Amino acid sequence: RREDDNNTTIAVSVNSVRFTYPGSTQEVLKGVNLEIRDGEVVSVIGPNGSGKSTLMYLLAGIYRPSTGYIQVFGRDSTKLIGKDRVRLIGYVFQDPDQMLLSSTVKGELEFTLKLADIRGKEAEDRIKRITNYLNISDLLDQSPHKLSVGQRRLVSVASVLVAEPRILILDEPTRGLDNAMSIALMDLILTIKEERGMTLIMVTHNMRQVGEYSDKAFVMYDGTVAFSGTPEEVFEESHKHPEWGISPPQVFEVTRSIGKPTASMRRVRANVA
Ligand code: ADP
Repeated sequence: RREDDNNTTIAVSVNSVRFTYPGSTQEVLKGVNLEIRDGEVVSVIGPNGSGKSTLMYLLAGIYRPSTGYIQVFGRDSTKLIGKDRVRLIGYVFQDPDQMLLSSTVKGELEFTLKLADIRGKEAEDRIKRITNYLNISDLLDQSPHKLSVGQRRLVSVASVLVAEPRILILDEPTRGLDNAMSIALMDLILTIKEERGMTLIMVTHNMRQVGEYSDKAFVMYDGTVAFSGTPEEVFEESHKHPEWGISPPQVFEVTRSIGKPTASMRRVRANVA
C-alpha cells in the first residue's frame, strides 16, 4: 500500500489515463492524472461531455483505460476482479433503473452479497443493518420498479453499500430528488462514510453539495483535469473560467464579496489534513 508525504494511504491514483470508447474515434479522456486519499470526500465537476461519467466507469472497472493505468489501494484496477472488486469499490449508477434488475429489493441486496462472497448469517445481518439505516426495511419484498424515485435511489445505494466497499462512487446521487430528500440521502451517506471510514467520490452539478461535503473537487474540462483544490479554491478559480460552467454557491459569492470567502455551511468534512 502506497503512502504519500503525509503518511496517508492513497485510495485511488489515476496515471496518464487516456480513453476512447470501443468503436469510436473520439478520444474522451486525454491524459487524466489524479490522486484521492483514503477517507477523503471528493467531488468531480465540470460541464456536460467533459468526461466525468466516463472516468467513473473506468474507476468502477466497467471499461479499461486505453493507455495509462489506475491503481486502487496500490493494486492495478484491471486486475481487480470478482469479490475483491466488489469489496473495494462500489459504484452507484446515475440512473437506478440501470442497476436495479431483481424482482425484489431483497434480491438486489442478495445479488451484491453473492458477488462479494458474503453468505449465511453475515449476509442476513448486513441486509438488516443497511435497510434499517436507510429506512427501507419495509420495502424488502417489494419490486424495485414499483417504488418512487427517492426509494429507488435509496435501494440502489443500499445494494452497493451492503458489500461495505472501501470506496463509494456516486454519479449524481441526488439527481431527480427534491431538496429535503437530497439532504437526507447525503447526510445518511456521509454518516455511513464517517462510521466506516469510506472514501467517497461523487459526480455532481450541485455546487452547494460540493461546498458542504467535499474535501476536494476536481474540475473536468474537455477530457482532462483542468483544476483541483478545496471547494473554495475551485470556486475562486471558476471566476476566471466561465467555460467550466461553474456557478459557485451563494454563500461563497456573498462571503467572497466581503473578502472572506467560504464555501462552508459544511456538514461533514473528512479529517484528513
Ligand atoms: P460527462 O459525464 O462529463 O457529461 P461523459 O463521460 O458522459 O461526460 O461523456 C464524455 C464524452 O464521451 C461525450 O462526448 C460523450 O458523447 C462521449 N460518450 C459517452 N458515452 C459514450 C459511448 N458509449 N460511446 C461513445 N462515446 C461516448
